[in-house]
Amino acid sequence: MEKESLVLQESLENTFGSNVFGDPVMRTRLPKNIYTLLRTTIDGGLPLEPTVADIVANAMKDWAIEKGATHFTHWFQPMTGITAEKHDSFISPAADGRIIMEFSGKELIKGEPDASSFPSGGLRATFEARGYTAWDCTSPAFIKDNTLCIPTAFCAYTGEALDKKTPLLRSMQALSKQALRILKLLGNTTVTQVITTVGPEQEYFLIDKKMYGQRKDLILTGRTLFGSKPPKGQELEDHYFGNLKERIAAFMAEVDQELWKLGVPAKTKHNEVAPGQHELAPIFTTTNIATDHNQLVMETLKKVANRHGMVCLLHEKPFAGVNGSGKHNNWSISTNDGQNLLEPGKTPHDNEQFLLFLAAVIQAVDEYPELLRVSAANPGNDHRLGANEAPPAIISVFLGEQLTDILEQIEKGGAKSSKSGGELKLGVTTLPALPKDSTDRNRTSPFAFTGNKFEFRMVPSSASIAEPNTALNTIVAETLSRIADRLEKATDIDSEVQRIVTEIVKNHKRIIFNGNNYSDDWIKEAEKRGLPNIKSTVAAIKALATEKTATVYGKHQVLSKTELHARYEIFLEGYAKTINIEALTMLDIAKRQILPASLKYAGKVAATIASVKNVSGTLVSAEKLLAELTMTIDSFSRNIEELAAALAKNGYGGDVFKYAEYYRDVVFVAMGKLRRDGDTLETLVDAALWPLPTYTDLLFTL
Ligand code: ADP
Ligand code: MG
Repeated sequence: MEKESLVLQESLENTFGSNVFGDPVMRTRLPKNIYTLLRTTIDGGLPLEPTVADIVANAMKDWAIEKGATHFTHWFQPMTGITAEKHDSFISPAADGRIIMEFSGKELIKGEPDASSFPSGGLRATFEARGYTAWDCTSPAFIKDNTLCIPTAFCAYTGEALDKKTPLLRSMQALSKQALRILKLLGNTTVTQVITTVGPEQEYFLIDKKMYGQRKDLILTGRTLFGSKPPKGQELEDHYFGNLKERIAAFMAEVDQELWKLGVPAKTKHNEVAPGQHELAPIFTTTNIATDHNQLVMETLKKVANRHGMVCLLHEKPFAGVNGSGKHNNWSISTNDGQNLLEPGKTPHDNEQFLLFLAAVIQAVDEYPELLRVSAANPGNDHRLGANEAPPAIISVFLGEQLTDILEQIEKGGAKSSKSGGELKLGVTTLPALPKDSTDRNRTSPFAFTGNKFEFRMVPSSASIAEPNTALNTIVAETLSRIADRLEKATDIDSEVQRIVTEIVKNHKRIIFNGNNYSDDWIKEAEKRGLPNIKSTVAAIKALATEKTATVYGKHQVLSKTELHARYEIFLEGYAKTINIEALTMLDIAKRQILPASLKYAGKVAATIASVKNVSGTLVSAEKLLAELTMTIDSFSRNIEELAAALAKNGYGGDVFKYAEYYRDVVFVAMGKLRRDGDTLETLVDAALWPLPTYTDLLFTL
């Protein structure tokens, strides 16, 4: 290799994970017995030995201080969907008036943030402040901004989870337990843990920071509340995978560097479909770590964008009429002896283990679509799901030609063969023959099998991926547990597997759909099949309050009824609060920016008409314009009053569901009307007077 590229390779290898207290650091810095004990907890899911904490804490502190850290924080993920941290310095007073740097096992294991200042859905009243954070040793500590960050779970004094990590860890444990039962019965004696793996593809927009600063809607709500469609959108399809502009490329390079230091294996980056839209995907890892990493990805994108004079928008729908952003949650199940349980192999038709796990996923999605749906619901995603770009709100499974064919064979009495992809010849002798995948892709499916994993595509771009994965793990744990119950009673495992798979195919094939999910025909077809089409966040949240949900989450000890109810309240309240902020911001922009600018312009036009009249006849074009302006301005004013009245009228009334519904059905609708007039005014008013950067400014000038 060339010398320069060797140097580059070496520096990359040194960069990757350099700010992570990961396995290589632990191996060199911890006494061997402590290292081994810690690893049995991390890899084997066994309880943490109390003696381990003090020694690990000390090693962590020394390492962190050498790296320039002065503080530590318990880094956790409250129900706000973002991360929280409270920094403490390592310094402790010493006897002689000086200080020493200390960090004890107790400080590593447990923290005590104020639980009442985070959303708790009634679990914590303001006067009952106590909450705890607990070290999650399965996700490595890291250094960020001179602070040692320790990933933690967050719970109330009473033990209920107040965060997104706790249920996720519980769901991983549940799935492992049930999958192990089955693998043992299938004769696997080496596997001791089953983990779910995730690689989330993150979409985002970049816009210029100065323009961002001129838009209160972007600052306060993350999306534009006004803005008429630009003359050019994505119709030329020239942005997807387009070459990266220098400024963007420099930004992405720095993001990669920052993420690599944090041990996030950022792998692919490219332009997305919409102008100004991009994507970043890491290499997959354990769900728990992938979830923490995704939080770091979102934070890093924002931070680095700021350094480059840009702002990163993670909102699901920053611009109306332009593609929104999502997060594709690639999910699979692996064993600690190195098998991907969703890997079909060359001949999936005779891979009974694969078919069994595949069937379990299909059954889970068909039986609990509402839990997947609510896990992907937030106010931002309401603008996307069902719109013309994202998967519709109906959940179905794409399997592709090969697997669908196998399942059809199974249903008819047994699978004998697997269709293979063969080779693709391009007709030019110098071009290689490409091995063809056994199945084409379907970009419209919300839940698609993509080779050796499922890709759940409904996930909101700004949200934590904890919820969707908690839901997926739990519902699959449930179907696996039922399969295990049957297999444990069976005398002939192989024929029972056959029977189970055949039954699942027969009973749940309605969830499989390989066609175009964006077509109207599918909506009708899905209704015929009895698949739910849950169109709004508010409606989706209902699923958290049902007996069915409480039963499955309770059985696998992922969320108790109390915890579910807390989440139900937090999400409904969160919805209402989001819409309330958006509505107030809209009113502010409408009254103090759009209306004054429009009136000013109308005045100018009127003055022009009057002065022309003094000299010659009438100016028909200006009179027409003035008429249209005044009509729109009046309508705009009426809609301002209507929205203000809607906001004034809302009463909490004690029923949080009705409260959220009011925001969806009354406030949000009034916002839509106001926006229409505002956007019309944008097309009428002199550009020099228009108070907001337009979509063209925001999307095409970077
Ligand atoms: P595709 O092009 O089919 O989407 P990629 O290889 O680009 O596949 O993968 C997309 C994402 O899926 C990446 O983040 C990747 O790491 C992740 N991924 C690949 N295999 C798995 C797996 N077994 N489990 C979870 N995620 C995976
Ligand atoms: Mg993909």
